[in-house]
Amino acid sequence: MEHKIDAYNNVLELVGNTPLIKLSKLASEIPGNFYAKVEAFNPGHSSKDRIALHIIEDAERKGILKPGDTIIETTSGNTGFSVAMVSIIKGYDCILAVSSKSSPDKIDMLRAMGAKVYVCPANVSADDPRSYYQVAKRMHEELKGSVYINQYFNDLNLDAHYQSTGPEIWNQTKGQITHLIACSGTGGTISGTAKYLKEQNKDVKVIGVDAYGSVLKKYHETREFDRGEIYPYRIEGLGKNLIPTATDFDVIDKFIKVTDEESAHTAREISKTEGLFVGYTSGAAFQAIKQLAEEGEFDENSVVVAIFPDHGSRYMSKVYSDKWMADQGFFDSKNIEEEQKIEY
Ligand code: PMP
Repeated sequence: MEHKIDAYNNVLELVGNTPLIKLSKLASEIPGNFYAKVEAFNPGHSSKDRIALHIIEDAERKGILKPGDTIIETTSGNTGFSVAMVSIIKGYDCILAVSSKSSPDKIDMLRAMGAKVYVCPANVSADDPRSYYQVAKRMHEELKGSVYINQYFNDLNLDAHYQSTGPEIWNQTKGQITHLIACSGTGGTISGTAKYLKEQNKDVKVIGVDAYGSVLKKYHETREFDRGEIYPYRIEGLGKNLIPTATDFDVIDKFIKVTDEESAHTAREISKTEGLFVGYTSGAAFQAIKQLAEEGEFDENSVVVAIFPDHGSRYMSKVYSDKWMADQGFFDSKNIEEEQKIEY
């Protein structure tokens, strides 16, 4: 007997259609209307659910994947979690090569989702055989019947956002959006969303958020890859030491750089003022808005959408750890000791 029960068949039916939430308190001093597209509402708690599902279903449609095959990816954590989640539901094995810069809780989470995780050194160049790119590539070549998601160099990454994030934002703002602010890592989110929005209205201004220590902003301005721009930084998932082909630089109007320290404080501020527990790059996105406001980018007619890519729970040992903040020099450790002494 078929029961009429109001239920989803599995978590994958909940991917996408994330809410837009007004940033009433956070942006109260800035002219304009500010909204966050809160990607933590995806079942895998980040925007990467969209690309994992889109790329794997595309391979299924093309007949590349059969049950029991292996999905391989390089990831700072979020994409890995999403790929592992989609693999479980669809019956594939999942192998992930991750950077040692990823937080330990992210790595444990990937293992909890059934993925096999290889941790590779963070501060080696992309063409070094120890880098997570090279490790994933080798495994893909050696394993028959595997699909390599390859998010930095896969046009389907951009296409996932062109088909979902872009139309959602256009419909949610009833076509009134004036600015899109998004962090750029692979660039899939910003360029796929921007491409759709600019097709609807070419005047939508698209601003990418980049990290100090990353090459993206300079490349956008000069179309030259400048190794001199590269140095280590703390924010995970934002900026890059190579030029991803998943980024369409032509649909981005400009890039703005944010610091590790200000982005970390801003992430904590978002949680405390809006009750939205978000990740490090959400802090970077709103930090960019603060800097753009100072440059006079917005007026009272602006309708600004910032993409908040993931959930704060993934950063308990980093941005949301007072000790980590103090170790980075972002906090005065004396103040923490004083705060922790508070007793009733
Ligand atoms: N924020 C976080 C936390 C991420 O993991 C990523 C992806 N690397 C991004 C932002 C940037 O998204 P995209 O790769 O689509 O540019």
